[in-house]
Amino acid sequence: MPKETLADLKARARAILRRLEKAYPDWGPTLEFSNPFELLVATILAAQANDERVNIVTRRLFVKYRGPADYLKVPVTELEQDVHETGFFRMKAKAVRGASQQILEEFGGEVPGTMDGLVSLRGVGRKTASIVLANAFKVPAIAVDRHVYRVATRLRLAPAKSTKEETVEQSLLEVFSKPNWVKATWCLVLHGRRICRPTPLCYECPVNDLCPYPKKTKAPAAPTIRRPIPRRGSTGRRRR
Ligand code: SF4
Repeated sequence: MPKETLADLKARARAILRRLEKAYPDWGPTLEFSNPFELLVATILAAQANDERVNIVTRRLFVKYRGPADYLKVPVTELEQDVHETGFFRMKAKAVRGASQQILEEFGGEVPGTMDGLVSLRGVGRKTASIVLANAFKVPAIAVDRHVYRVATRLRLAPAKSTKEETVEQSLLEVFSKPNWVKATWCLVLHGRRICRPTPLCYECPVNDLCPYPKKTKAPAAPTIRRPIPRRGSTGRRRR
């Protein structure tokens, strides 16, 4: 592929986003929440877990734990039990309690609405912070999870050999316009979950012609139907 100018790259990114938006009209947050703190907890629990499972757990969790103080009132083993189904439950319970404590002690009980404030919380990295900023505070941001990372590098919206999520994030912030950052995040997430999976379904991909990925997959060959060979002298008709 000839080297793309930044203007060409931005135009291709716009075209990709237009198509993905059409292909995934249901784009948007898949975790259930009713306030920034719930989204923060749900996003911490969503690490290495699927969102449907997290939603099942948080539907119970958010009835029992209404705010940061509630997570500190119970023994840690009880919280571990309550989040057990999301996997890595010890680490996640510790992160939720740590973040709750900081929110109470350093932020007056409210989730901070800035990147610096969010990443200062225990267990919160840029991806979690961006999800909370974009979806709970409506602050434009791009969150790079494993799907966004994979799709963006395959589509060469970020350098193919990016090793850090931050590099991919910076590239995407540059190629998409700010009003499109949140939409771009969700469209890339859904594309990575449904089509551009670890083994991609390139033959079903709505942006195939805009993608320079060199290892595109082809549709599997249709199974051949073997017809029985009629025996000599046989008419092929069944006897009654
Ligand atoms: S063509 Fe294949 S690799 Fe490229 S975005 Fe589509 S599914 Fe992913």
